[in-house]
Formats: sequence, structure tokens, C-alpha cells
Amino acid sequence: MDIYDHPTFRMACRQFDLVANHLQIPDSDRARLKYPKRSMVVALPIRRDDGAIQVFSGYRVQHHLTLGPTKGGLRYHPEVALGEVAALAMWMSWKCALTGLPYGGAKGGIACEPHQLSAAELERLTRRYTQEMIPFIGPQTDVMAPDLGTNEQIMAWMMDSYSMHMGYTVPSIVTGKPVGLGGSVGRREATGRGVGYLINRTMDVLGLEANKATAIVQGYGNVGSVTAFSLARYGVKVIAVSDVNGGIYNANGLDLWKLEKHNTDQRTVVGFPEADPITNEQLLTTPCDILVPAALERQITETNAAKIRCRVLAEAANGPTTPEADAILEQRGEIFLIPDVLCNAGGVVVSYFEWVQDLQSFFWTESEVVDKLFRILEGAFTQTVNLSRKQKISMRLAALSLGVRRVQEAKKTRGLFP
Ligand code: NAD
Repeated sequence: MDIYDHPTFRMACRQFDLVANHLQIPDSDRARLKYPKRSMVVALPIRRDDGAIQVFSGYRVQHHLTLGPTKGGLRYHPEVALGEVAALAMWMSWKCALTGLPYGGAKGGIACEPHQLSAAELERLTRRYTQEMIPFIGPQTDVMAPDLGTNEQIMAWMMDSYSMHMGYTVPSIVTGKPVGLGGSVGRREATGRGVGYLINRTMDVLGLEANKATAIVQGYGNVGSVTAFSLARYGVKVIAVSDVNGGIYNANGLDLWKLEKHNTDQRTVVGFPEADPITNEQLLTTPCDILVPAALERQITETNAAKIRCRVLAEAANGPTTPEADAILEQRGEIFLIPDVLCNAGGVVVSYFEWVQDLQSFFWTESEVVDKLFRILEGAFTQTVNLSRKQKISMRLAALSLGVRRVQEAKKTRGLFP
């Protein structure tokens, strides 16, 4: 499967191989579990505002369809590539299985710099992508959601384009839509809220007092900013955050409400008056109790893993830690890892709630959503901690083992067609 070759895909495959060895999965089952079921690559010509025509590359990878439709985000970022999307789709599969959702994993993306496109250009690009994907998506086939560089508005355009094609309104084609169009209350906050909940549970396990703890968040977008507010609500002091432009640090804690205003006005955290500037590299090695990478893959590598100084590493982003860095962190032993497939699962869990609400046209209150979300996360957290302790394996190996095992068993029980 050379078409997927990419550093992030190699990383996901290495993680899978470690899990497959641990679970003693027979060789005959491995390729079937590992490689994506199908992938689409599309050329997306759109008219720019100045009249020029530009062609963008779009991708969608559906990892497996054994347990139901596939589910996963849509990413707008200049470095989006088929292999990266395939790795993210694979992780979505293990995440959905770990949390018991009736989905396979998927991921999609368009290689573009969304901040350099006007709203009208983004709309044309999104609608064209949706149109190209119509043969492959549907509420029972593949359901998209926001990810890096995409948001509720993009989901609204996708839902509208699909509905126009069908001739009637189909809210369940995407999740993470605006609430007024059939979105779920609590979906926008779900990932960060879940990250906050799991960190709080980890503090219980470790006996860390929230009001004496400090946190650092890399990537102050949807997930990172909601995580910061959620931690602050538990009493944790957030001392540094960053975005693609750089970071800010204040040992006494950042005033998140003032930062919110600054970030909204300036569209970056950089330049916040009540803090010192710091680079993204410095941020990751600054001492703190809780480190939350919430931006991109492969941020914690063999180069900086030995220098990270935290008690809890909460992977809000997908794939922020490479397998080489994992080995170093495991050897060090003092850092409690909340692995990505568990840590950021709140997003897909509430996406699932949104899909269920849309299919039933019956909507829940925010407290119902949050209560059900925390119950699912609690179950996945407890199972992962228990397995990790029982088998004396890392939290990542425990979480991935639970996910991979469920998909393997489902494939085995269904059998091989024809
Ligand atoms: P977002 O676009 O809202 O925010 C991303 C943030 O990361 C921005 O602040 C951006 O400036 C920053 N960033 C980008 N490149 C950076 C770099 N090189 N260094 C530091 N910061 C950088 O995206 P998001 O939805 O918050 O997603 C963030 C991560 O969380 C991604 O890995 C995504 O796959 C993962 N995730 C998101 C969801 C969700 O519901 N949105 C769910 C699960 C996982």
C-alpha cells in the first residue's frame, strides 16, 4: 500500500504493529485491519475572487465499514496529504471502537491555507468538495465533522450542498453544524470539555490537587481554548498557550477572558499584553503539571521527549507523539499519558449524539449531552487504566488494544464476504 506512504501513516502503522504483536493477532488478519477500505482523491477547481481558476487537491479515506458508517473530520491545512488523512482515519477507527460507537473511522481534507481564502472562496471550495464526494458519503455511509481549519460554517455549506443534491434537507450528513440547522448543543465544546474531564480524572488518580496545578496548551483553536477554560473551571492555572504564530507565558496564570478578547480581535494569542512571548518549541519544554498538545501531529519527538517537564501529557491533538518519543517517555516513567484516541474522543462521542438526534429529529438538552458524554468517557478511561495496570502496559497500548480488539472481533464474527 505504497500510495499511503507518509511519516504520519508510518507512525500509525508502527503503533498498529505494536498492538497487533501485543494482541498476537494472526498475520492473516493484520492487513485487513490496518489498511483503509477505500480512499478518494479529487481535483477541486474553483474560481478565485480575482477571476483566476485554481485547482486544489481533496482527500477522503474510509478506514473500515464493519461496524456502521465511517465517521471523521475534514481538515483544511496546506500540508494535508493522502497518507496523513489515512493515518488519521485509522486512529478514528480505534477511537470509535474504544468508546463503543457504531462507526468505522474516516478522515478528509483539502490541501489549502484557509486563512488566505475569502469566505466566498472557502464556500465554493467546500461546495465543490462536497459535490465530488457525493457518491461516497451519506448518513449511513460516511459522516464528516469539523477538524483543523474547518468549523460550523463549513459544515453548514456541506449540509446545504448535499441537501440540494438530494432534494430534501439531510442534517445527518455532517456533525458539528450550527445548532439552528440540527447541530447538537455542546458539540463545539465537546472535545475540549472531554479533555478537561479526563485530565481531572487523571489528577484524582495521581492525587494532584487541581488548584495547585499548572497547565500549558499548544494550539489555541477550538480544542485548545475550550480545554484551557475547562481546566480553569476545575481550578487549574493555565500559564502558557500558543498558536501557529507563537506562544505566550505568564507564570502567575493567564487571564483567559482577557485572552479570549485579544484572540478574537487580533486572530492570534501573540502580542497578549499580560504575558511574555515564548516559541512553540520552548512552550513544549516549559515545566508544568499538565501539558496539552492541541495542534498538529508529531510535535513530541525523539528530539524533545527527554526535555518535556510535566506530570500529565494529555494528547488533545491526534498523533502529537511519535513512537520514538513514546519509547523515551515510557522509559522515563514519571509522565502519565492520556493517549489521543481516549483524550480527544469527546468530539466524536458528541458527533455521534448529534447524528442520533438528527436521525430521530428529537433533540436533547445540554445537560443530557454532557452527562452522556462524561459517562462514555468515564467508561473508556476506567477500562484503559485498568488494562494498563493489569497488563503493566502503557496507556497508549492499553487504549489501542481495546479499540483494535473490538474491530478485529467484529470482522471475525461477520466473516469474510463472499
Ligand atoms: P483549530 O483549527 O480550531 O485550531 C488549531 C490551532 O492550532 C490553531 O490555534 C492554530 O493556530 C494552531 N496551530 C497550527 N499549527 C501550529 C503549530 N505548528 N504550532 C502551534 N500551533 C499550531 O483545530 P482544532 O479543531 O482545535 O483541532 C486541533 C487538534 O485537535 C487537531 O489535531 C485535530 O485533529 C484534533 N481534534 C479536533 C477535534 C474537534 O472536534 N475539532 C476532535 C478530535 C481531535
